[in-house]
Amino acid sequence: MECMFCNVINIDSNKFYEDDLFMAIYNIRPVTRGHSLVIPKRHVNGLLSLDEEEKKNIMSFIRKTVFIALKFADAYQFDVTLQEGKDAGQSINHLHFHVIPRKADDELSKYHYWLAKSEHNLENTRTQELAAEDREKALRELRFIAKSHAAQLESL
Ligand SMILES: [Zn+2]
Repeated sequence: MECMFCNVINIDSNKFYEDDLFMAIYNIRPVTRGHSLVIPKRHVNGLLSLDEEEKKNIMSFIRKTVFIALKFADAYQFDVTLQEGKDAGQSINHLHFHVIPRKADDELSKYHYWLAKSEHNLENTRTQELAAEDREKALRELRFIAKSHAAQLESL
């Protein structure tokens, strides 16, 4: 079965930040503005399968993605979540962390998603898939933030 996150063409169009090991993509159905995913470039099923280099660098990359997503959302608070396995709500079998900017009374505050099973997971909340032009606009902004804060991101 083809892995959606290993499909380079598909991913490239949603990508706004990357290094040698990881990339940050914008969720096609953001539950809040700025809802992004951090994924290893290598196909890795789970957290325990990361190699030495990935283990050493994953948190730094998540921090950079948080920085970009918060600036984009004009937010100061966030969730970082990992759903691993179908019973935890994982829908794509390639390790991915959710980076979700949060604000009071946002869409996500209606869901106890961390307890939900797969039929009620993050991907299946009632949020709509963004229209192509809205996604493009968001990605342009996210890429601009990443580019214009390159030096600051380097230190995270
Ligand atoms: Zn994959």
